[in-house]
Amino acid sequence: MINDLLQRTKTCVSFEVSPPKTEEEFQAVFQKLDTMAALAPDFISTTYGAGGSRAGKTIEIASYIQQKLHIDAVAHMTCVGFKKEDLKNNCELLAKEGITHVMALRGDRPQAMSDEQYNSREFFYATDMIRYLKANTSLQLAGACYPEKHYEAESFESDLMHLKEKVDAGASFLITQLFFSNDLFYRFRERAEKAGITVPICAGIMPITSAKQIGTSVTLSGSSIPKELADLIANHGEDKEDMRKAGIEYAIRQIQDLKAHGVDGIHIYTMNRPKTTAEIMAQI
Ligand code: FAD
Repeated sequence: MINDLLQRTKTCVSFEVSPPKTEEEFQAVFQKLDTMAALAPDFISTTYGAGGSRAGKTIEIASYIQQKLHIDAVAHMTCVGFKKEDLKNNCELLAKEGITHVMALRGDRPQAMSDEQYNSREFFYATDMIRYLKANTSLQLAGACYPEKHYEAESFESDLMHLKEKVDAGASFLITQLFFSNDLFYRFRERAEKAGITVPICAGIMPITSAKQIGTSVTLSGSSIPKELADLIANHGEDKEDMRKAGIEYAIRQIQDLKAHGVDGIHIYTMNRPKTTAEIMAQI
């Protein structure tokens, strides 16, 4: 059980991978997972395509992690894009594959999705799905949290209040949105604890290995860029290899500082890149 791993004194380290979009890339992901498994992460989570697209692929990858690599797999599931019936079917598949952990998320609205379709989802918030899964399955559940607050939340306080509801509904550990300033994480952790949120929190770290990542994954996450990282990109962004090296070093510094501050877990957003992940793991 992942919760047992998170209770140890040793910091838990986990990876996140995503089902690739094309069939060719999809076949290559298993080899990448073999390489990542050799780095001995405590668990690997696999994302769910926005709006429920390529849903079966999440379970296929999670099954490979659980059955072939013998590493705890966490399958992400979203409320947006599918019905209670779909969730039931997914749960049956998970049980068949021996997958016992699910990260329950609301999901974001895909650009092409109509208002009607978006608003017709049967579970409105992640907490609604967690409540359902807790009552109807024996799955261990994780939830997302946001050191800089979720982009739709009215205030940090209201986001934290809803996070407490998520934990009370059954999320037994949390994984944060990516962040680049550890101080924001420490402030969030302190405020969460004061709000009565005592489950383990894994810190989400994404190595920035190219300047263009800022315009894609980082912008989507809503995470802020501290001056140190902005300067690093300005100084190294033009040279691909130089930028890669500097971005990996930045992530390593972040992780070492988090470990020194007693973080429960480090969750590396691997972007399906075993080489970068291995370079980080070698230093932490
Ligand atoms: P929720 O917890 O439902 O919160 C969404 C918003 O609603 C917040 O502003 C919250 O404050 C507010 N809220 C919650 N409850 C209530 C209530 N009762 N009343 C009013 N407001 C409320 N997306 C994917 O599509 N696939 C993935 O695999 C995926 N993996 C992710 C993994 C991590 C670690 C993280 C941090 C995010 C991931 N996402 C993924 C993105 C996620 O789906 C989005 O960030 C989404 O916008 C919010 O999801 P959530 O589960 O945090 O939502």
